[in-house]
Amino acid sequence: MKKINKIVIGTNNEGKFEEICQLLPSDLEKISLSDHKTQSPAEIGTSFCENSVIKARYFSRLFKLPCLSDDSGLEIDILNNRPGIFSSRWAGEKKNFAVAIDKVLNEMEKKDKNWKTNNKAKFVCSLTLYWPDDKFVSSNGIINGKIVDQKRGDNGFGYDPIFVPDGFKQTFGEMKLEKKMKIDHRSKAFKLLNIIYFNQFY
Ligand code: IMP
Repeated sequence: MKKINKIVIGTNNEGKFEEICQLLPSDLEKISLSDHKTQSPAEIGTSFCENSVIKARYFSRLFKLPCLSDDSGLEIDILNNRPGIFSSRWAGEKKNFAVAIDKVLNEMEKKDKNWKTNNKAKFVCSLTLYWPDDKFVSSNGIINGKIVDQKRGDNGFGYDPIFVPDGFKQTFGEMKLEKKMKIDHRSKAFKLLNIIYFNQFY
């Protein structure tokens, strides 16, 4: 398989785009969707993996280039793993994560008044690397942690301000990006993808 020199990053989410670019080698040419007026396909899959394949296939065919796409989200134990694949949709049309975080905290409160002692959660990420000839490879990464009742920190994106990874005191919102990226779900999925397809990026 040929070494990849140019790749489409199949996400309209700025936070994810930044993290994925940091993971990839600096000399790899990265195409951002924000430079091209293009909509994302409907995420009709029933799992993170299915949705990441749907996005990667769509953008790879559109740009006739390899595409790396991510589908990820937050799974909360007492909410039966919700919001899960609907993590982005809980933020509404305007992608307002203050709204999504309030919804998470309200739903946890509704479920169990003592949720602060029953606050296990995890971030899950599926990455798919898809080639225009319809070959593809996917991988998954998980980071376990807990939900806190107050937003902390302005770094990161999405649900970062209310998620504390196991073994740490800071929320992802309080961590520097480099620290988050050493342990998070996206970097774990990326490492696996890179091991499976070693030499593709490098
Ligand atoms: P989608 O994969 O584009 O459907 O969106 C996934 C959503 O999950 C994002 O919009 C975020 O709200 C959330 N999410 C995924 N990964 C992270 C993360 O690393 N930090 C915070 N929120 C995340």
